[in-house]
Amino acid sequence: MKNMKSFMKRRDFLIGLSGLTFFNLFTFTLGRSQIDTNQKLKVEPYDMQLRPHHILDIISDHGNGVQYEPHPYGHSLHIVAPIILSDLDLKVKLVLDADDICVGCKHLLSDGKCKDVLAQLNPSPLKQAYNDVLDCRLFDYLSIEVNSVLTTRKYLELVNEKVPGIEMICTHPKTSMEERLNGLINGLNKLGIRERI
Ligand code: SF4
Repeated sequence: MKNMKSFMKRRDFLIGLSGLTFFNLFTFTLGRSQIDTNQKLKVEPYDMQLRPHHILDIISDHGNGVQYEPHPYGHSLHIVAPIILSDLDLKVKLVLDADDICVGCKHLLSDGKCKDVLAQLNPSPLKQAYNDVLDCRLFDYLSIEVNSVLTTRKYLELVNEKVPGIEMICTHPKTSMEERLNGLINGLNKLGIRERI
């Protein structure tokens, strides 16, 4: 949990630097959801907030043997991935917004939006719109409500029920669907979520 604590400190520090306090990000996220003032009292505590597809990226990378290093964008994937993979009982808030991986990213705007584009496509769509559509489809496909708090283990058990199948939704443009599926299967195997056949 030492890593987790230092990550949380780094997250708050970086969010502060970007002009977006953790409190603002938190309430901004709530504001985007259907939660009203009375329901705020029922908000569950959580360890991390992540987009559903970012967790799938981590699992398929894990299955494909990818080793993370700091990225030129400055985002926090190399910090978040080992934490998620090392403790499947962490509580994750599944969001449709900037998440803990976006912390420190040079493309993260002060309003929590992403200004990056999908450079592999021409014309290149905004990553913000691409991510939102992809994650909406995953929330629907997995029958999970936006802003639900689940352990990573529970989330991956739901994902496992949709493997194969989910790769048709979550494979990124210009990448291999077969590689995505194999990565997900291997990653779920390695984590003990899926039985090896
Ligand atoms: S979604 Fe955008 S802001 Fe977040 S890590 Fe990716 S490029 Fe950066």
